[in-house]
Amino acid sequence: MEPVNLMELDGNKLKEFLASFDHVFSDCDGVVWAKTPLPGVGKFFELMQRLGKTVHFVSNNSLRTKENYESLFQAAGIKSGFDNLTIPSSAICEYLKSVKFNKTVYCVTCPETISVLESHGFKCKEGPEVGTYYYGDYIEYLTDDEEIGAVVFDSDFKVNLPKMYKALTYLKRPEVLFVNGATDRYVPLKPGSLALGTGVFSDIVSVESKRQPILLGKPGKAFGEFAMKRAGVTDPSRVLFIGDMIEQDVGLGRASGFKTLLVLTNKTKEEMMSHESLKPDYYADSLGSLVPILS
Ligand SMILES: [Mg+2]
Repeated sequence: MEPVNLMELDGNKLKEFLASFDHVFSDCDGVVWAKTPLPGVGKFFELMQRLGKTVHFVSNNSLRTKENYESLFQAAGIKSGFDNLTIPSSAICEYLKSVKFNKTVYCVTCPETISVLESHGFKCKEGPEVGTYYYGDYIEYLTDDEEIGAVVFDSDFKVNLPKMYKALTYLKRPEVLFVNGATDRYVPLKPGSLALGTGVFSDIVSVESKRQPILLGKPGKAFGEFAMKRAGVTDPSRVLFIGDMIEQDVGLGRASGFKTLLVLTNKTKEEMMSHESLKPDYYADSLGSLVPILS
């Protein structure tokens, strides 16, 4: 089905739309805020709550601290945003607890993910930050470490060749868990420019190790299930997922059985329509633009 422009629906169709979901799951970056909160977002979520919808946030961004998230939610006029937020680092901790993991995690992640893992009592190893110059020295990165029981990738902008060597070395043991948080191949840094994300590197490790990761970030189905469990939601068809990225947000919605709304804050309508396999159910310019229409 072609995506429906919410801005063009008449009153009856808008009522049908609003009656079709009970829970709003929203992405954060590019939907709620760019560098600062986007206009009207606080009012949008207030309106959703007034209409009886529960509101939750689901982001792939483990890079922000709790304090940073809390100040952004507050600036956007959203109450209890952080308490209702699901991010990969918390999903990874819950998963490791569920399998009674008691070894050391090798982290190819941002520092904040390591501190979340450590705050849940997990032992972590990381690095090296830089490799040696002479390739012959790289043999040291091919030494296994029996303590390692999981390799975790999640938004590491300092990913490098030695880390790839180490990850592949540990993953040769089939009992070592391979877990991925954010696997974004691209990040929206500068319009018109191609900016790669950590997902490019975790994909190489997946191919070379012939291992499929447990995907605890968007668009992984396990991540959608984790977000539902946290939000106390049992029926995915009653969830409206709002995002600005096709692969991650519309992809998660498709994998999880959610309805999807794409806001065109980072993608043009042409880019949305040209995606070969993923299209949202609905689209709109922004959340703020929907406030007068839905009020
Ligand atoms: Mg986003």
